Order: sequence, then C-alpha cells, then structure tokens
Amino acid sequence: MPTLDTLTTYAKSTGFIYQGSEIYGGLANTWDYGPLGSLLKNNIKKAWIQRFQREFPNNVLLDSGILLNSNVWKASGHIGGFSDPLTECESCHQRFRADNMIHEHDSKVNPDGWTFVQMDDYIKTHQLACPNCQKKAFMPIRAFNMMFQTYQGVVLEKANQIYLRPETAQGIFINFKNIQRTTRNKLPFGVCQVGKAFRNEITPGNFVFRTREFEQMEMEFFVKPGTELEWFDYWKKACKDFLLDLGVNETHLKLEDHEKEALAHYSNATTDILYQFPWGFDELWGIASRTDFDLNAHQEHSKENLSYLDPETNERYVPYVIEPSVGVERLVLTFLNESLVDETLESEEIRTVLKIHPALSPYKVAILPLIKKLHKDQAFEIYQQLSKSFDVTYDDTQNIGKRYRRQDAIGTYFCITVDHETELDQAVTVRHRDTMQQERIKIEALESYISKLIQF
Ligand SMILES: [Zn+2]
Repeated sequence: MPTLDTLTTYAKSTGFIYQGSEIYGGLANTWDYGPLGSLLKNNIKKAWIQRFQREFPNNVLLDSGILLNSNVWKASGHIGGFSDPLTECESCHQRFRADNMIHEHDSKVNPDGWTFVQMDDYIKTHQLACPNCQKKAFMPIRAFNMMFQTYQGVVLEKANQIYLRPETAQGIFINFKNIQRTTRNKLPFGVCQVGKAFRNEITPGNFVFRTREFEQMEMEFFVKPGTELEWFDYWKKACKDFLLDLGVNETHLKLEDHEKEALAHYSNATTDILYQFPWGFDELWGIASRTDFDLNAHQEHSKENLSYLDPETNERYVPYVIEPSVGVERLVLTFLNESLVDETLESEEIRTVLKIHPALSPYKVAILPLIKKLHKDQAFEIYQQLSKSFDVTYDDTQNIGKRYRRQDAIGTYFCITVDHETELDQAVTVRHRDTMQQERIKIEALESYISKLIQF
C-alpha cells in the first residue's frame, strides 16, 4: 500500500487534489479538487446516493442550507452545551482536544459524552503527557466552539451572528415534519443529504483526512421506538457492504462498537468503521443509534410538535433515528489508498495503475486515435456519442503505449483505439485496464457493452 507521501504526490501530479490557494502560498490545510478529483468525488456521491437513497423505496434526498437559524445550534447543543473540550499545556501552551488525547492514550476508552471534569480527572490520574513537550501539567479543560461564525446582513452585530453548519444532520431534523407531510412516507424512512460542513478543527491534518471544510454524506433513518437496534444492525452492514462492493479489502476494515459506558448519553448503540489509512486504523464511518434525542431537542426549542402518528396503531410518538455519517474526502483517501498500485509486468516494466472500481473511475473511457491525422474525425464522433452516457476523455499525443500507461495511472477503465480498420468494419479495439486484454467491439454496441461492465 502507498505511503501518505506517495498518495499526496500522486494526487497532486495527476490532478486529483491540489494544495488550496497554492499561488498565494496556500492556506493551511485546505485542498482543491482538480479535474480528476472532482469526477471521483461526484462518483462517490452518486454511488452513496444510489445505495442509501435510490435503492431503498422510502428514502428521500434533502438539500438544506449551510446557513441556518442560530436556534438550531442551541437546540442541537453546538452552542452553549458541549463544544469541543480543549486543554492547554501549562509549559508550552499548545492546545489539544482532551477527548482525542484520552482516546489516543487508550483506544478502548471513548470519552464522547463525558463531562469536562471526568476528562480532567482522567488526564491527571493517567498522567497523560503533552504530545508536544512531554510535560504532564495541563490547564482545566474549556469549551472550544468549533463553529465558523459569520454575520448575516451588513451590520456586524451580535444579533446578526450566524454560523456555517458543522454537520448536515441538523438540516434533516428540522425538516422532518415538512418531509413527512409532503411525502406522506410511513416509518421507517430515511432522509439522505450530501453537503459541505465546516469545523474549526484544532488539529487538522493527514492530507485530506481532517480538514476544516469538508463534505458529509449523512442519512437520518427514522424508525419506530423499539425497532432501532435491528435497523442499526441493518445500516451498519449496509455501510460495510458499500465499501466491500466498491473494492475495499475486508482486512483493511475494523468495526469498533462503543462500549455501553462509553456511549454518548443519548445513544444506545454506536459503531465506528475504521479503515487502515497509511498512518494506521482511523475513523472512516460512524453509525449511531441516537434515539429521539435530536427531534426531542428541536421539539422543545421550536415548540413545534415533531411527533409522528402511526397509521397502523394510531399511536403518536417521536421517532427514533439511526445515523450513518461519512465524509466524502475520507472516502476519496480510502479509495485512492486502496487502488493505487505499481505492477511489475512480464517485461519487467513497472506500470502504475489505479485499480479503482469502474463506477468510481474518473473517466470510464479514453478515446485514442491510433494516428492523429488519419483517425481523428472518427475518434471524435465516437467521443461525442459516448460522452452522452459516460465521462470520456480523449488523447492523441505520443505513441499508443504511452497513452495506455497514462490512462492506467488515472484509473480509466477502458481505452478505445480507433485505427485504419475502423472505417471498414465499424469496430474499435477495446482494452481493459486491469487485464490489459483487448477485444474488437462494434461501434454501435459500445454503449451497452460499457454500461454492463461498469455497473455498481
Ligand atoms: Zn507542552
């Protein structure tokens, strides 16, 4: 598997991910997704929507605002209640997330939902050392609000203060009633949302693993109380299957169930799916059974009735919810890490190939005229035809072998070569990325042939 340096260099040199604001010297821990990275991100989102929304009859999509009424964050606990627990080293004055320090000290301990006093005590009794200077004295933990603040309107007044959302989930909860009313969906049903979220992280890093601006894919799956643990298992498996079906090796995944005493106070089951990143196993996907905590909180703060009338039993109750939550960028890193290989061929030549699932390949097809002068027009015709259905690229520079290598390195699943026989037999040579096998396919059959082989 590649190192993090290899991945970073690869992503930058091929056009997957660039340093943010690079020509101005950059902006710390920001990244821009280039031509290939944008396509990969889109494909990941498409695959997620397909699996979590489209294939499940009652699940629907939502695209709520990044800017929301500040009362949303009061109700959710993001303002006031429990912000990030920040501790400061008494010697070097570096600041750290106390919960992370504890979890890193003992991975079996998960301090989500602990009070600050509990965390202070733990740090003292276990003699945790400053990761920077190794001294063992810290200031008492303080709440650090990780939300980005801004102002709505032209006046910089406290009253106009709003926040960039730190998660997409709350937009779903506050629209539960609207969605239930307009779709008339019966429980259980899920609401899926893909969108940007912003957190002023204290310690971002590991390339795109932890960034202050990121894209989330979250689903809130509303269920009848009492059925939540069944659905929790169902969606936990669905998340894992999503990764396996897209080619992630099972030995690179670890499911970590939070122990009962370590659960957040509102949750009755939480699992993290960990992936073996270049620096070790780390959190990829969180699945939480959150009971009726969120809807109750919004009901209380908004004074709106957010309960559901069960048409079968005539009972009225506030639904429970299962929340699988994953970041697009972490999946980008996972799939690149999983797919980038240097392969030694029979000729002992080394070929770099991104063996990514074809549904995720930035380009499904590259159209290559064998000789530019002679085959360009026909190649362009095929380009136009196939680009109505797939992401297609076109390359007519250098010899065909070099062009194959370039496409292999960026994960293009098929190379289609237009040659002198194409005009006669109305067929092209199709080369497969992984096997490098070639076959002759009629132009008119190309579309259905490709569709079948790239399906997810
Ligand atoms: Zn220190």
